[in-house]
Amino acid sequence: MLKIRNLHASVEGTPILKGVNLTVEPGTIHAVMGPNGAGKSTLAKVLAGHPAYEVTEGEILFKEQNIVELEPEERAALGLFMSFQYPPEIAGVSTRNFLFHALNALRSQKGLESLDELAFDELLLQKMAFVQMRTELGQRNLNEGFSGGEKKRCEILQMAMLEPSLAILDETDSGLDIDALRIVAEGVTRLMQKDRSLLIITHYQRLLDYIRPDYVHIFADGRFIHSGDASLALELEKKGYDHFRSS
Ligand code: ADP
Ligand code: MG
Repeated sequence: MLKIRNLHASVEGTPILKGVNLTVEPGTIHAVMGPNGAGKSTLAKVLAGHPAYEVTEGEILFKEQNIVELEPEERAALGLFMSFQYPPEIAGVSTRNFLFHALNALRSQKGLESLDELAFDELLLQKMAFVQMRTELGQRNLNEGFSGGEKKRCEILQMAMLEPSLAILDETDSGLDIDALRIVAEGVTRLMQKDRSLLIITHYQRLLDYIRPDYVHIFADGRFIHSGDASLALELEKKGYDHFRSS
């Protein structure tokens, strides 16, 4: 699904990613944990194709294709999805209209017919029920005035609508109370399929009680420094990042 080799990336001339290596097989869940400022969000944005970040070395193979030179929408058409740590508020665009155009743009990139308004609204209602999001939020401007929990739920709704093969979730647990955390985690878990992969960036071991990762990776100082199975998250909670940095 995804193979990152010796990836280096800079923002405004400052190197942030310093030799990232990672392989993600289809159908697997990978958790990425690491201290603030390590470059986790940078990695997510570089994978999604954020224009402010420059790849200076290495490659990102997604479904066997090097995507480093591809535009974000081309990556999305290949099945890549990223949810933001801080979902932006978009004034003047309703959540429903945003998703209507996003989904149809994706379908057109894939050579599929557009969904008409009726078919789309039916699908939207179904997916909103799936992520347990109040239907009223569909008419509101995207993320505008949404609570932290509603914003995160909205990100999961986008994932449910766009059906990516690789979803990158950046700190989906921040701003969520325990109940909302569980609902989002359950939504994500139900969205998992045998050929869909997940990269979850998180600080919290408790999220991993709900979304059981196949692998846990520790990210520090711009690269992965240690990997293990789900038990690594517990070990990390006890020992802290420094233990792994120095070992
Ligand atoms: P994490 O998500 O692990 O907390 P980030 O990827 O957000 O870390 O940030 C890594 C480093 O890159 C930080 O020192 C941050 O200040 C810097 N950085 C990220 N984005 C930018 C930017 N647009 N301009 C300048 N520095 C940035
Ligand atoms: Mg971050």
